[in-house]
Amino acid sequence: MEIIAGTTLKQLQPRVWDPESPFHLPELRAVMVSFSDFHRSKSLRERAMKDGLHKALDVPKRIRIYIDNGAFANILAGNKLPTRDYWKFVNQARPDWYPVPADFIPLPSMTEAEQESCFRKTMYYNREYSFDGCVPVIHAGGKLGKYIKAIQAHDKLSRKKVLALGGLVPQFLQTNGTGPKTNAIDSILTARRAFEGKIHAFGIGGTATLHIACVLGLDSVDSSGWRNRAARGIIQLPGRGERIIAQLGNWRGKEPDRKEMTLLRNCECPGCGQAGIKGLKENGTIGFARRATHNLYVLLEEVKEIEMNLKAGSYQNWYPTHVFNRMFLRLIDYALEKKNDSMPSM
Ligand SMILES: [Zn+2]
Repeated sequence: MEIIAGTTLKQLQPRVWDPESPFHLPELRAVMVSFSDFHRSKSLRERAMKDGLHKALDVPKRIRIYIDNGAFANILAGNKLPTRDYWKFVNQARPDWYPVPADFIPLPSMTEAEQESCFRKTMYYNREYSFDGCVPVIHAGGKLGKYIKAIQAHDKLSRKKVLALGGLVPQFLQTNGTGPKTNAIDSILTARRAFEGKIHAFGIGGTATLHIACVLGLDSVDSSGWRNRAARGIIQLPGRGERIIAQLGNWRGKEPDRKEMTLLRNCECPGCGQAGIKGLKENGTIGFARRATHNLYVLLEEVKEIEMNLKAGSYQNWYPTHVFNRMFLRLIDYALEKKNDSMPSM
C-alpha cells in the first residue's frame, strides 16, 4: 500500500521528495496537493498549466503528483465550487491522479434528505466525468451501498480501474467508544469486496488506520497528518499514538515515556539525524521540518513492516507485540475478524 504525502503550496518545506534536500525520504513515491491551493494562487496555477505540475512545483518526475479537488474545504467555507477551473487545470497541468471535479460527503450528522442530496450530486459528477483517467469518488457511510449499485450499473464507471473512497475521516473521528469507528472498517470492507480495481482512501494516515488500510487491502491512502501534527509539536512513533515533543502554544497531549524516548533516540530518519531529540523540540521552520520528516518516515516504515509481516503470514502474531494502544488494537482485531469472517477457508 502506498502513502501519498499530503502537502500544501503555502509551505512546501520539508522537501521530502527531493534527493537534494537534507530531509529526503527515498521511500516516498507520491505527494498530494489540493486544487484549492492552486485556485488561491493564480500565478502558480497558470505556471502549472503552462509548464506542467512537476516543473511548476519543482518535483522530480519519478514522484507522482495527486490532486484533490478541494471540494470539502470549499463547501465548508461556503464557496462556490470552481469545477470548470478545476477541469481546465487538470487537463493542462497533467497531474498523475485526479478525482472528479466535485464530491459531496453525506455526513452522519446530516438528515436523510441531505445525505441523499449529497449522494445524487456526487453521482452526477461521477457520471458526467466518467472519462479515462478521471477517478470517481464514493463515500463511506449510509449511502455506500447506493454508490456501489450506481457505479456497477453504469457502463463506463463499472469498468474503471481506480476508485476513491472518501468520508472515512468523520467515521474514524467518532470518539464515543469503538462502536462507531468500526463503521469505517465496515465501509472499507464493503468497498473492497465490491470493486476489483485500485482503491484510494482520502485522508487516513494515522498509525491504526494504516494497519487497517493494509489489512483490508486498500491500494493507497493520503494524509497531511505528518505536517499537521508537526505544526502542533507532535511526533508519531511506531505502533503508538501521537506524542507531544515540543511545547508550542496551548496544545496539550501525552509526552513520550522512557521507552518511547529510547525509540526516538534510535530513530534513523533524516529529521532526527540532524540534532536528535533536541532538534525535534526546536521552534520555527527547522523544528517543524524535522518533526514532519520524522512523522512521515515513521508512517512509511510502519507500512513497510506491516506489509512484510502480512506477506510472511506473521502479521497475526506480530501486531499485538508492536501496537501499544488499546483502542488501536481493538480496531485492528475487528478488521481482521471481519475480513476473515466471510472469507472461505482454503
Ligand atoms: Zn526520526
